[in-house]
Amino acid sequence: MAQTTIISNGANLAKYMSLPQKGAVLAEYIWIDGTNNIRSKCRTFYKKPETIDDLPEWNFDGSSTNQAPGSNSDIYLRPVAMYPDPLRLGDNIIVLAECYNSDGSPNAFNYRHECAKLMEAHKDEKIWFGIEQEYTLFDNLGNVYGWPVGGFPAPQGPYYCGVGTGKVYCRDIVEAHYRACLFAGIRISGINAEVMPSQWEFQVGPCDGISMGDELTVARYLLHRVAEDFGVVISFHPKPLKGDWNGAGCHTNVSTEKMRQPGGMKYIEEAIEKLSKRHKEHIAVYGEDNDLRLTGRHETASAATFSSGVANRGSSIRIPRSVAKEGFGYFEDRRPASNIDPYLVTGIMTETILGSIPDVDVVKQVSRK
Ligand code: ADP
Ligand code: MN
Ligand code: MN
Ligand code: MN
Repeated sequence: MAQTTIISNGANLAKYMSLPQKGAVLAEYIWIDGTNNIRSKCRTFYKKPETIDDLPEWNFDGSSTNQAPGSNSDIYLRPVAMYPDPLRLGDNIIVLAECYNSDGSPNAFNYRHECAKLMEAHKDEKIWFGIEQEYTLFDNLGNVYGWPVGGFPAPQGPYYCGVGTGKVYCRDIVEAHYRACLFAGIRISGINAEVMPSQWEFQVGPCDGISMGDELTVARYLLHRVAEDFGVVISFHPKPLKGDWNGAGCHTNVSTEKMRQPGGMKYIEEAIEKLSKRHKEHIAVYGEDNDLRLTGRHETASAATFSSGVANRGSSIRIPRSVAKEGFGYFEDRRPASNIDPYLVTGIMTETILGSIPDVDVVKQVSRK
């Protein structure tokens, strides 16, 4: 059990949450900061925004989020997508925003801007993604949730897809997050307990083009926000515990319309061939500290080499057995870490598989920070 649990006073809060808003609509603007975390702030509207164009640009102090120097600290928030808010209900919304500097250029950590250009250029290919987000629960003292203090649980084995006390922890958070995503319209496609105790996974997708990064970002926001109510900390670190414990990834599944049709295996093989030639470039944008995870052990392939195979969970790329059998479908890139920026990953996959476009270079973007 956790040593200390700080839980918000839900019953007290409920009294106030049921007070009428008298026509006001609350919009929680969320964005990715300079440390790959999510930030948010809220404002009131007195007319319900119907489309994204009804939402004004806003700003914040970028010097407090690692996104700007103090001397020129204003960063602008440009709304790009909106979702029903499962925490406030009613007409209240979550607004996903991109960050721009005061001179109008995209902020160094705004990887969505260039990703959107790639998706637009290749929109006829109808590229889809599905991301499997793994994460680890910690208590508020920094211990893995439920682990014995100063010790370790029994070795891995009973926990993956586990059922029962001592095998899984915080199923309440997982269930609450699942419902919250559904309410917000996120295409969450499943959940499961992971190999390391207190590690879980949710899947989002298939999502077309830019909506993959958008929906994963909102799903991550909701996970942090739900876990806050339960006094639990969510970690997206790819190797939260050294030793004989599985790391955490963000397997990224991908397909184009051609791959999804009979005979599609030819296009899947072509894509894998192209990926094999840009292994280094992909690893460069597949998450920080990913080298601690991609060791060649614990169901990973080594970061040093590229490999692919049918039903092989020890390779960089895996073609699901069912896809190989049918001859069309999709494939899985197992290299991305749990802490990826999803726009970098879906961006470089699109760039490598469907071709680069003028003025966009996915790898170069990370060097501007
Ligand atoms: P695994 O067996 O690797 O654990 P999961 O069931 O956890 O697989 O995740 C499979 C992912 O593949 C889901 O996110 C799903 O949305 C995605 N997916 C399914 N079909 C496609 C497709 N045609 N194109 C892209 N992604 C897909
Ligand atoms: Mn999975
Ligand atoms: Mn998994
Ligand atoms: Mn997988």
